[in-house]
Amino acid sequence: MENCIFCKIANKELPSSILYEDEDVIAFLDIKPVNEGHTLVIPKKHFVTLDDCDEEVAKHLIVVLKRLNISVCKAVNCEGIFNAVMNGESAGQEVFHLHFHIIPRFKDDGFGFRFPKSYEIKRERKMLDEIAARIRKEI
Ligand code: AMP
Ligand code: ZN
Repeated sequence: MENCIFCKIANKELPSSILYEDEDVIAFLDIKPVNEGHTLVIPKKHFVTLDDCDEEVAKHLIVVLKRLNISVCKAVNCEGIFNAVMNGESAGQEVFHLHFHIIPRFKDDGFGFRFPKSYEIKRERKMLDEIAARIRKEI
């Protein structure tokens, strides 16, 4: 995709610090790491979100992600790994080429979420069951 920075990275038209590459997937260091070793794993083919992504490619991405979690953690000696994928602008996506984050975590590293007030309220089972039923209809 023209003007997509991650397509350019996949095509080696832009510099990046690559740590893994195969036919369909490439992984490189995030230019603004939350912690040392912060890695992005992307399909070489342009998909905007996970919804758009070919299922075979998605399976392979998860396998690579699982393996690289272990390698990154060993290399930077982290205490845990946070994996994230932002699908859409409202979810915080800034680069519109599908990417999985591998973020090494340490206790008290200053990274975290901001939760809305509603998060503190445990919902009634009836309400949860209604939402689960609505979602089941879409599967
Ligand atoms: P998001 O779409 O919110 O998951 O964020 C995009 C991520 O891509 C951010 O963590 C950026 O630091 C990272 N990023 C943007 N441009 C580059 C680049 N040229 N090389 C490596 N990482 C990048
Ligand atoms: Zn792209």
